[in-house]
Amino acid sequence: MTALAKLLMQRIALAGPMSLAEYMTDCLLHSEHGYYATRDPLGTAGDFTTAPEISQMFGEMLGLCLAQAWLDQGAPARFALAEPGPGRGTLMADIWRATRGVPGFHAAATLHLIEGSPVLRDLQAKTLAGLPVSWCDGFDALPDDRPLFLIANEFFDALPIRQFQRAPHGWREMVVGLKDGALRPGLTEAVPLADLDHRLDDTQDGDVVETSAAAAAAMQPIAERIAAQGGVALVIDYGHWRSRGDTFQALENHAYADPFAHPGLADLTAHVDFEALARAAPQLVHSALTPQGDLLKALGIEARAARLAQSLTGSALDSHLAAYHRLTDATEMGTLFKALAFVAPDTPLPPGFAPWSAPPNEAWNDA
Ligand code: SAH
Repeated sequence: MTALAKLLMQRIALAGPMSLAEYMTDCLLHSEHGYYATRDPLGTAGDFTTAPEISQMFGEMLGLCLAQAWLDQGAPARFALAEPGPGRGTLMADIWRATRGVPGFHAAATLHLIEGSPVLRDLQAKTLAGLPVSWCDGFDALPDDRPLFLIANEFFDALPIRQFQRAPHGWREMVVGLKDGALRPGLTEAVPLADLDHRLDDTQDGDVVETSAAAAAAMQPIAERIAAQGGVALVIDYGHWRSRGDTFQALENHAYADPFAHPGLADLTAHVDFEALARAAPQLVHSALTPQGDLLKALGIEARAARLAQSLTGSALDSHLAAYHRLTDATEMGTLFKALAFVAPDTPLPPGFAPWSAPPNEAWNDA
């Protein structure tokens, strides 16, 4: 049993079952035993690999996308370039390198990172040494006196969720309790929940929906700043337009695991509900929900991949081509990962993003 399991079991024995959100928060960010708080989980030695760790091309394409959005908004002389959950700092380093040829962009930017893990903050400081970086202790601490250009890759999926199962007269919440001396999920009695009224049309008894108060709380200050000062928010993550079913999962050593077996030792995530992000940012307009592969291709990744391939041979060329495939192909990250861009009304969308027209026609069982 992990040290954190012991602590959580004591707490549940005293205070009763805890929400999934409370459980996830402790598992990921508990200061002594939390998964992110105590390690670098990324890369082949860790539990998972993210797009910027797969290839520099990901950050290069998105850096140019941000720079073009900045130019399209009149190249403001001072702006905040921000990233929540920057992992090892790789994405920001690639964005910075890719944009050095954009006149005035670096001189106008101040860099702001939001990171809950001290271990990862240290890594970010090393990766981004020499850049004008500072860390904010939360979204409310982002500057509000200049346009905000924000990018979040695989950040929102790490935020705590609550899960509800529809019942004839309300919703039963999934909570974490004790059974046979172990942490086990259970369901509360059903209660009506006004916050889930909008899900009554597309769910039936027994269906599970997920909500994230933390995701909405992160979006609100972002939206306020962009509405008041301009800028853009790019959110890239795996998920759907609406939460659908149980997507809570644990990864340990690159393999799926029981999320209740080793609290603090596994990465816990849930698919992102992009509609919920949009509902938390009513002052902004958003793009169509765009598959990652389509976005990267619209931004020119094919030409960039071909260019990089020219100077590679042998196994370096093979791994470059494999990385390109992994980022863009529908059977890999190309479709499951999606991107949504937010801007103030009457502001052009960043390149690669089409205007919103209708919710994507996704079946529930895509999840
Ligand atoms: N964006 C990076 C890393 C993704 S992993 C990449 O694409 O490689 C998730 C990141 O979010 C980690 O840096 C983790 O420490 C951070 N994180 C998770 N929950 C957080 C929270 N509540 N507040 C701030 N950072 C958080």
